[in-house]
Amino acid sequence: MESNPLLPLPEGMQIDQIQASENEVSITIIATHPTSCCPLCRHPSSSIHSRYRRTVRDAPCGGRRVHLALCVRKFFCRNPLCERKIFTERLPELVRPWAKMTIRYCQQLTSLGLATCGKGGTRLAARLGMQTSRQTILRRIMDLPDPPLGSILYLGIDDFSFRRGCQFGTILVNLESHRVVDLLPDRKAETSAAWMRQQLDLMVVSRDRGGEYASAATQGAPQALQCADRFHLLKNLGEALEGFLAHHLAAHCKRQTQATLDEQAPVWQSKRTARPSPKLECLQQHRREERLAHYEQVIALRKLGMSQAAIARQVAIGASTVQSWLAAGTFPERKPREQASHLDRYLPYLFQRWEDGCHNIACLFRELVEQGYKGSYESVRDNLVRLLPTGRKNEASSSSKAPALATSRQAVFLFLRRPEKLRVEEQEQLCKLRQIHSEVDRAYDLVQQFAHMLRTRTGEHLDGWLDQVECSGLPELQSFAMGVKKDKDAVRAGLTWWINNGMVEGHVTKLKLIKRQGYGRAGFPLLRKRVLHAL
Ligand SMILES: [Zn+2]
Repeated sequence: MESNPLLPLPEGMQIDQIQASENEVSITIIATHPTSCCPLCRHPSSSIHSRYRRTVRDAPCGGRRVHLALCVRKFFCRNPLCERKIFTERLPELVRPWAKMTIRYCQQLTSLGLATCGKGGTRLAARLGMQTSRQTILRRIMDLPDPPLGSILYLGIDDFSFRRGCQFGTILVNLESHRVVDLLPDRKAETSAAWMRQQLDLMVVSRDRGGEYASAATQGAPQALQCADRFHLLKNLGEALEGFLAHHLAAHCKRQTQATLDEQAPVWQSKRTARPSPKLECLQQHRREERLAHYEQVIALRKLGMSQAAIARQVAIGASTVQSWLAAGTFPERKPREQASHLDRYLPYLFQRWEDGCHNIACLFRELVEQGYKGSYESVRDNLVRLLPTGRKNEASSSSKAPALATSRQAVFLFLRRPEKLRVEEQEQLCKLRQIHSEVDRAYDLVQQFAHMLRTRTGEHLDGWLDQVECSGLPELQSFAMGVKKDKDAVRAGLTWWINNGMVEGHVTKLKLIKRQGYGRAGFPLLRKRVLHAL
C-alpha cells in the first residue's frame, strides 16, 4: 500500500492496513528502510535483531480517534567500539522513544492546554475527537522548555497580583521583542536583582515608582539606565492632587452652604407671610371671579326651584360644593392655603436643626413627631425642598442647569487631561473649579506644565518645574516633588525617552486572563509556563 496523502509519514514508513469503526481508526504502519542508525554511535546497521509492535495515539481524523500500530524493528550495532549492542530504530519525526502519542498529537494537546486550561482543555479535546486527561494536558504544558531569553537591552518590569492586594509576583518584558521573558514568584528586590544579574546586556530598566524595583535595578544592573514609567508618574501626581482638591472642595462646599443658609434665613422666616408674585395674584383673582360666577349661578338656579343634583349637573361642579354653598348663605372666600399647614409652628425648630447640620429628613420628621407633629412625612420633605435650596434641594429637584462642581476624583481627571480634549461641560466645571481658590488655580498651572512635559518628552524642563513647585506654597505638590527629586534621573529619563511600561501593563492584563482561565487554581510554575508560551 502506498503512503496516504492524508496521513503524512516520515520517509521509509508505509501504511500496511487501515481498520475503521464508528469512533476509531486503527492504522498499521511498517518501517521499510533497510538500515537504521545506532542512537549512541550514529553507525548505520542493517542487521535486524527482531520486530515488535508499538501502539501510539495520533491526531484525530474526521472527528475519529486515530491509533497507529507501528511495526518497528530492533537492530544489532556492529560497531565494536560501541557500548550498545542492540538498539530500537528511531522515528524522530513521528514519535519520541517510549512515548504513547505522536509528536503532532502532543503539540495539539499542548496548544489546547495553552489556549484553555486543564479541565476546559480536556472537554474541548473530547469534542475534537481527542481522548486525554487533565493531568496529561497540564504535564504537556509543564514539559515545555523555557523559550530562549536571548540578549535583552530594554527591560520592562512590574508587579502583578496572585490574589488581589495580598500576594504579588513580578513580570519581566523585553520591550524590543514585546515578549514576556520571565515571571518571578515575588516582588522582592533581591529576587529581581538576582535575575537581572544574569542579563549582562541590559541597557535600560523601565519600572514603576516603587522602591523595590529601583533598588533591584541598582543592585542587579548597575550599568543600566533606569526609567520611571510615565503612567505611574501621572498616577502619583493624581494621588497627591486628590487630597489637595478634596480639601479645597470641602472648604468651598462649607462656604457655599453657609452663604446659602445666611441668604435663606430671612426667606425661611418670611416666606409664609410674603406676598405672592403679581402673576400668581392675577391668576388667583381670575379664579375667584370664576368661582363667584358659579356661585351666583347656583343661587339663581336654586331660586328657580331646581334640585341640588340638577344644579350640580348644570353648573358642572360637585354636588357637595352646591350643598355647602347653599348652606353658607354668602359667597365663601377661599382661605389662604398657608394657614392650613400643620408644619408652621415647627418651622423655627426645623430651621435650627438644619443649620446644626442635620440634613436627614427622615430623622427630622421623627423628631417632629416626638414633639407632637401630626402632619405627613411628605409635607416635611416637600416644605424642606421648597424652602431650603441647598444641597438637599438640588438633589431632590435637580432643577439646576449649571454643572455641579466635580468630586475630588473627577477634579483630578479634569486637572490631568489635555484641556482641548475636555467636553464643553467639563471645561465649565474646570473653570469653576479654578475659581474656588487661588491655590487651586496655581496648582492647575503646575500640573498642566508637568503633564505637558510628559506628553512632549521635554524632561529637560524638570528642574525648572521642581523649583516652581518649591516656591508654590502647595504642600501636596511639594511632597510629590520631593519624591521626584529622590528619583530624579529615572523620572527625567521617563519624561524624555520613548520607553514606558504600557506594554508591560498590557501583558499583566493578559496574565490575569490566563490566571482566571485556570479559575485561579494554577500554582506559580504552571502560570509561568502558560504566560511564557501564551499563544
Ligand atoms: Zn552504536
